[in-house]
Amino acid sequence: MNIQSLIFETNIRRSFKLVKQDMLAVHSQVQRTRFDQANTKVLLQDLVKRIQTLEQQMLYPVKKIASRPISKNIFTKKVSKKKFIASKTGNKLHVKNCVFAKNILPKKRLYFASKIKPLNHGFKACECVKK
Ligand SMILES: [Zn+2]
Repeated sequence: MNIQSLIFETNIRRSFKLVKQDMLAVHSQVQRTRFDQANTKVLLQDLVKRIQTLEQQMLYPVKKIASRPISKNIFTKKVSKKKFIASKTGNKLHVKNCVFAKNILPKKRLYFASKIKPLNHGFKACECVKK
């Protein structure tokens, strides 16, 4: 084997080695791209879900129910039903003609048709109610 063919053979070996390296690089690049694609798909699905959730919230907003210590809808405004009286600033419940009820300023009066509801909502019965 002369020197010329030896150099030629060495060059061919080196060329194949470089081609092999390039092939490996391309292979790993393709795999990385596939991984990125899969990741992007998952991210997209997540985004679509979040958009759908937001759309649902916009169409059907959740109504927050305010908590009230004493419910206003248990008071009565009909004159014929004003049997019990309490003060807006107090917690005692009186019958209409109790002396304590008469001392409550008209603008501070709360009227009830029955004693059951106000007693269930935190008012305490005066002696006049217990009779
Ligand atoms: Zn009373």
